[in-house]
Amino acid sequence: MDMPVRSLSGFSADELIPLLSPLPPYKCREVFKWISRGVRGFEDMTSLGKQEREDLTRRFVLRSTGRGKELADPDGTVKLQIRLHDAVSTEAVLLTDKEGRSTACISTQAGCPVGCVFCKTGSLGFRRNLEAGEMVEQFLHIREAGTRWGREVTHLVIMGMGEPLLNLGELRRAVGIITDPRGLGLSKRRITVSTSGIAGGIRELADLGPPLRLAFSLTSAREELRNALVPSGRTNPLPRIKEALGYYQEKTGRRITLEAVLLGGINTGAEEAAAFRAFARGLDAVVNLIPWNPVEGLGFRGRALREPAPAETEAFARLLEQGGLKVTRRFRRGRGVSGACGQLGSLD
Ligand code: SF4
Repeated sequence: MDMPVRSLSGFSADELIPLLSPLPPYKCREVFKWISRGVRGFEDMTSLGKQEREDLTRRFVLRSTGRGKELADPDGTVKLQIRLHDAVSTEAVLLTDKEGRSTACISTQAGCPVGCVFCKTGSLGFRRNLEAGEMVEQFLHIREAGTRWGREVTHLVIMGMGEPLLNLGELRRAVGIITDPRGLGLSKRRITVSTSGIAGGIRELADLGPPLRLAFSLTSAREELRNALVPSGRTNPLPRIKEALGYYQEKTGRRITLEAVLLGGINTGAEEAAAFRAFARGLDAVVNLIPWNPVEGLGFRGRALREPAPAETEAFARLLEQGGLKVTRRFRRGRGVSGACGQLGSLD
């Protein structure tokens, strides 16, 4: 008999009811709960009868993914390779900040079709969209890594490999499972989704939810430069993205984060800062500056990319602050394991 590859971890509590029939509904909800606790086999679901456990074991698998390589940075970052059922792999990261808060960062795609010039994942091309269960399982794998390293995951960011809003249907399903109070029960307020700027996806998220914290990777507010750095910009012009962000804000009442990956000598000048400020005008936004994390072999317009000098980052931040923007600087985490922003995709 063929092994089913679609794991139960990708089904909501309600979907499990017809799927697990003839198991009674209250026991299906118990299965959902057991999955969220991270059990690895039906035999561990001790509230079910022996016959029920054996029947489920014959019919289903709990997870379709496996843990691959695991790398830990002395700064507390842990990077995990997640092996998918079809020999493709993706990556997830556990980040711990100075306050000791631990955040899981998961991927929505294997590879990425957007192809940002400063991103390792973008340079690898696109393999495929991930299914909801594969996202939920990344969260479970990362939570287990947290346990191994003595940390409790309290937040989630959806910004690993891939463009989340190009896989919004499966992402929505995954978030539904991760936030269900009958299972993992993570608050939506603790989940951030980061997009390279898919205007239609931002509107769809505003209309259909879930109402997550939204981060938009602006990187440059000068259209021509942005389109060269973030190719999805060519079909998502900045005015359309800004309109969509305004719509999102109107619908959700949520403050938006504008992110910028700072590339030394490319998008850190006064003209850039002025365009950035103009873009932010009218939005309730905070700015998060991310000094580029080096990836070997990446270049732009014939020159190797370089990370900005700390003074360059500071000067850019001050120009934004002088324009009245609230600016945070992303502290550098995970570079020792290539687990920082823009560095995923090195574990294959
Ligand atoms: S930065 Fe994000 S959207 Fe751009 S190529 Fe990398 S993974 Fe894709």
